[in-house]
Amino acid sequence: MSSNRADRSCALAEKVAVITGSTKGIGFAIARRLAEDGAHVVISSRKQQNVDRAVAELQGEGLSVTGTVCHVGKAEDRERLVATALEHCGGVDFLVCVAGVNPLVGSTLGASEQVWDKILDVNVKSPALLLSQLLPHMENRGTGAVVLVSSMVAYVPIPKLGVYNTSKTALLGLCKSLAVELAPKGIRVNCLVPGIIKTEFSQVVRISFCSPTPAPRFGEPEECAGIVCFLCSPDASYITGKNIVVAGYSPKL
Ligand code: NAP
Repeated sequence: MSSNRADRSCALAEKVAVITGSTKGIGFAIARRLAEDGAHVVISSRKQQNVDRAVAELQGEGLSVTGTVCHVGKAEDRERLVATALEHCGGVDFLVCVAGVNPLVGSTLGASEQVWDKILDVNVKSPALLLSQLLPHMENRGTGAVVLVSSMVAYVPIPKLGVYNTSKTALLGLCKSLAVELAPKGIRVNCLVPGIIKTEFSQVVRISFCSPTPAPRFGEPEECAGIVCFLCSPDASYITGKNIVVAGYSPKL
């Protein structure tokens, strides 16, 4: 538990956050931090045992969370996630789209159509499709916030991750288009752009492809969480369509 949790616990009181890919890594850190700041959080990911573990851990810390299985690439799972949020919370204020995959290490032009489809389905299409399902319930609340999760590879591509790099670049554009489209409805859309963060997902990249230079170290998942809470909070009420880099120092970004 953060030492100053008590000071923050009212910031997002009465708010409801749905987070994809939130049973581990960056998504789990965001879930914990949003809940510490007072939101009720709906946790989700593909595997029931991961959902159960994450929910039990955060509930054990006295935080208000529920969870359900949701593979973001599956329409029926997205429907269940929306239904769970409505059933437990009656509406949704924030959507944080963390789930992302990279099944390929290899050349961009050598990627099969199945690989292209999987990466684009999960990383790019699913945030838009899930948001379209949630939108009527967010609009009802008067204001809302969406945070997409891109990557520094959108700006500085890592060799052999070309399809993934491309999907993360697409999210920068999706953020800007949705921000313009949803502004009249009072919904802000921003994009978190992490550098290399110490999680299971980045293990191969950390070992094989990159040194942490010029940043002196890799990031921690918790270092991505505070900015997401800020982007959801009223303090960010005049910030939308922005891609915000959390990557230590990099002269290339
Ligand atoms: P992680 O520690 O491996 O956690 C991934 C989470 O997403 C898990 O909860 C996993 O649980 C869930 N998940 C995976 N595929 C899913 C799917 N199709 N539908 C729903 N949930 C799914 O990964 P991470 O490093 O936190 O990465 C999270 C996001 O940050 C990704 O979008 C990634 O591209 C982005 N990112 C990461 C880094 C980095 O250096 N770590 C840098 C930039 C951007 P289940 O296995 O139960 O589904």
